[in-house]
Amino acid sequence: MTGPVRNFLTVDIEEWFHVCGVGGVLAPDRWPTLPSRVEFTTDLTLDLLTRHGVTATFFVLGWIADRHPRLVERILQAGHEVASHGWAHRRVFELDEESFAEELTRTNATLEEAGAPRPIGFRAPEWSINDRAPWALAVLARAGFRYDSSMSPLRLVGNPRYLQVPHRHETAYGTLVEVPPLVGRRLGQQFPLGGGWGLRMSRPATVIREIEARNRRGEPVTLFMHPWEIDPQPPRVTLPWPLRFSHYFRLSGFAERLDDILAHVAFGPIGDWVLKGCGV
Ligand SMILES: [Zn+2]
Repeated sequence: MTGPVRNFLTVDIEEWFHVCGVGGVLAPDRWPTLPSRVEFTTDLTLDLLTRHGVTATFFVLGWIADRHPRLVERILQAGHEVASHGWAHRRVFELDEESFAEELTRTNATLEEAGAPRPIGFRAPEWSINDRAPWALAVLARAGFRYDSSMSPLRLVGNPRYLQVPHRHETAYGTLVEVPPLVGRRLGQQFPLGGGWGLRMSRPATVIREIEARNRRGEPVTLFMHPWEIDPQPPRVTLPWPLRFSHYFRLSGFAERLDDILAHVAFGPIGDWVLKGCGV
């Protein structure tokens, strides 16, 4: 790779109630009745990034873009990349090829209606392009996507053997660049240092040190966050473990820790990097 190494901040735009695999009060048919927080919390996220002059990749759910098209406009106006997080926050391995392709088409159309250029990047809900859905990469390439950021090198949601650096997948429909999230090592296990509970519990200095070490090796790092993680008054419902942990553990003070990381690390959108040839 030539030139300065850049890192990627990615934001999954969804509501606090878009939790995979739960029914009851958070079942999809209840979503329209639940209090929406996404505009408020995404605006907080946009303010945070503007303060640091950081541009990011926003993976937006079609379901959100349909209800909040002006929010998509504000993300674009602030100079960020809009990419796809699918339509209804369903895990890819629960879909088949046809219904996954339909979700992609419907989401692209809705994002484009809201003013976004046609998305070239995709992130699956809950990192659900894994060994249970290996067919999904070809579906993405066939639909015109250029990169994917859905394969986590973690045991619970992905596979610890997945590569930790951006790399290429060759599919029957062309090449897709895979951009995995940062993972760290703790007590002999890989954990999500780049986002979720792992990032929320980590000291900013630890995260920055790890990013700098990887950048020295020429590797870009991908962090991920959700607007609901910086909600000062997050609505709470009782979730089963480990969802309770991944959704609620150490939300307090997260915006400040993120502030510290953004002040020390250079970030840019994934899409620009891929379109410029990205060197992987
Ligand atoms: Zn999501």
